[in-house]
Amino acid sequence: MPEPELLALRPQGLYCAAGDFFIDPWRPVDRALITHAHADHARTGHRRYLASAESLGVLGVRLGPVSIQGLAWGEPITIGGVTVSFHPAGHILGSAQIRLAHRGRVWVVSGDYKVEPDPTCTAFEPVRCDTFVTESTFGLPVYRWQPQREIMAAIDRWWSANAADGRASILYCYSLGKAQRILNGVDASIGPIVCHSAILPLNRVYQQAGVRLPAVLGIEAGADPAVASRALVLAPPASAGSPGLRRFTDPSDAFASGWMQLRGARRRRAVDRGFVLSDHADWPGLQQAIEASGAARVLVTHGQVAPLVRWLGEQGRDAAALQTRFGEGGDDAEGGDAVGEALPADAPAPRPLIDAAGQWLLTDGADGFAPPPGAPGKG
Ligand SMILES: [Zn+2]
Ligand SMILES: [Zn+2]
Repeated sequence: MPEPELLALRPQGLYCAAGDFFIDPWRPVDRALITHAHADHARTGHRRYLASAESLGVLGVRLGPVSIQGLAWGEPITIGGVTVSFHPAGHILGSAQIRLAHRGRVWVVSGDYKVEPDPTCTAFEPVRCDTFVTESTFGLPVYRWQPQREIMAAIDRWWSANAADGRASILYCYSLGKAQRILNGVDASIGPIVCHSAILPLNRVYQQAGVRLPAVLGIEAGADPAVASRALVLAPPASAGSPGLRRFTDPSDAFASGWMQLRGARRRRAVDRGFVLSDHADWPGLQQAIEASGAARVLVTHGQVAPLVRWLGEQGRDAAALQTRFGEGGDDAEGGDAVGEALPADAPAPRPLIDAAGQWLLTDGADGFAPPPGAPGKG
């Protein structure tokens, strides 16, 4: 009998039988290890949570009072027979890759990550492993980010020009991570900065963690014409058209997201400007992280799975798709938006780890989910 895989797909999520825990499960479980606080990874309803110490503040805002333990970066803990540690993923405050070691095998689950330096969270740390479970939100060659400072400078220029014309600048961005990165990066001397109420409690947690953010006003400050005509207003995309935002004078609007690399995505958003700023790795960043992991096998999930699996296969790597529910819904969904457009027409279907009949192919053989003969991910 070959050893069972260290992680297997269960209906609740990615399961480690040797340690009896799940990673970022999408259904309620007894013990959940959480990579980061975005809603597609950190869900309510689990009995016990384990996360990076750096993420406890943002998880508190998102999950409310739950039973949660925090681990310092790199601090090993043994669960069952599995040695578990959390390592920075560079995605948002507290975001972690989770390393699992058991009987000589090492897996790393990346969560969401980026390799570009970001002053609002601990930098991505390459972790060596045999099997690397990587996200692939922007796993296409078209996605190549400019350095953050250039994007921030472009936002500053847009905001300055609007303020000089007596117009507000409404910048739509995700509330957790993106908003704080923008606040930290823009030139706050240009004018007043206003944040939607969904962003304010997260700002406080970032500041408590030592991240430098400028003073901001609540959305009600838009009642003051001196503010309404010059402000930079940060708001989540879902708040577009809300009464609070309608106070602002003849606004120019924009959206900050990796998807803004695609012209069609900006058109659909119907905003004046798109700033290509993502908290996920771009195409070279994914390759860099995969290379640095030294992994013999790469499991791809969360985004442009098929193109990345195909590319890795062409490079002679053992790569396969892993069907999770990461990237679905929530504030980090950066997804949905552009998927149809971004996939090249000739992209082959990825080699699935779940078959058409709903069989889990990456399995520990439990729960009656026996793999068919010759299934990938087994043996
Ligand atoms: Zn995320
Ligand atoms: Zn995600």
